[in-house]
Amino acid sequence: MDKIIDYVADVTGERDRDAIDVSVAQALFDCLDPDALTLFRLFEDDARQRRLMPRAVFGAGFESPLATVQLNRSLRTTLPLVDAEPLVERCVRQRIVTRGLTPDGRVRTLFPLASDSAVIAVLEVLTRDAMSAREQRMALGVLRILRNHLAILDYSEHDTLTGLLNRKTFDGNFNKLVMRANRSEGESPWFAIADIDRFKLINDNFGHLFGDEVLLLLARLMRDTFRSGDKLYRFGGEEFIVTLDRASPDAAESAFERLRAAVEAHEFPQVGRVTVSLGYTTVLPGDLPATAIGRADEALYYAKEHGRNQVCGYELLVGRGLLVAKAERAEMELF
Ligand code: GH3
Ligand code: MG
Ligand code: MG
Repeated sequence: MDKIIDYVADVTGERDRDAIDVSVAQALFDCLDPDALTLFRLFEDDARQRRLMPRAVFGAGFESPLATVQLNRSLRTTLPLVDAEPLVERCVRQRIVTRGLTPDGRVRTLFPLASDSAVIAVLEVLTRDAMSAREQRMALGVLRILRNHLAILDYSEHDTLTGLLNRKTFDGNFNKLVMRANRSEGESPWFAIADIDRFKLINDNFGHLFGDEVLLLLARLMRDTFRSGDKLYRFGGEEFIVTLDRASPDAAESAFERLRAAVEAHEFPQVGRVTVSLGYTTVLPGDLPATAIGRADEALYYAKEHGRNQVCGYELLVGRGLLVAKAERAEMELF
């Protein structure tokens, strides 16, 4: 009992989701002493099918947490589908603890972890004998604490109007993006700022309530446009940020262009037609938030100056001689 309280104190002191998943799995593994224990997160693949991503695996020869391992896209599609296994499917759909036997005769108990709207994780425990009622209660209790902790984290990380991530969260996540920049070959992370065109006019003509409605609908269009791994932020006012973990220049450009086109094609109630302009840039090794924002902002400014309702890439503009790269400009200013 003392041990579990120590673990819970550790878990609720964590802010990083990877670390939280590992701590929870570690706590339950030590306290329940099963043959093996895995904490899976549910995610949607590009075809919107739900799959199980192992985040922390203990026992059965695995003593090291998996949470820090980044699975690339092709590997992700080999992960088990929720709907492929009746035991998992029932656990997720009915949000109940399910139990079955593994081929080697061990007892497999699955616990769902649900947020308000959906099951977000599944805990799998493999034991020689069925878990006792007390053990199950302990597992459920720890999962409830995890759910509450995640809910508070979620609340602090999101913008209340649109439900997108907020600016504070962006600052914390940017380093992860820069770390990817150091690793990727050919593909890189991307960073875009989207700014609604003539938003002041929308407020002036229709009132703030309709302005807010436009912000909400835009957030929805963004969710529909980008993949689940891409990150969407409301940066403040009517400015939004999109980051892509890794993509080729062409793929990045067409993803951002897809948003622009979706907004242009959307009929906003009352307000009618709304457009956005986007400026984007590659995230470079060693980038700071301010430097990446600066480049994307220059591209955005260019888009605004040249007719709005368009997508401009900083590197493309510099390559075509339409913008002067910051490093060169700094040199020119010296002379
Ligand atoms: P541009 O095409 O150059 O971007 O023109 P704009 O009018 O969109 O640009 P500007 O930055 O001048 O105006 C942004 C406006 O956004 C000003 C402000 O009243 C409005 N705004 C900022 N935050 C909110 C919000 O939370 N709700 C609403 N309704 N309006 C907001
Ligand atoms: Mg603006
Ligand atoms: Mg604007």
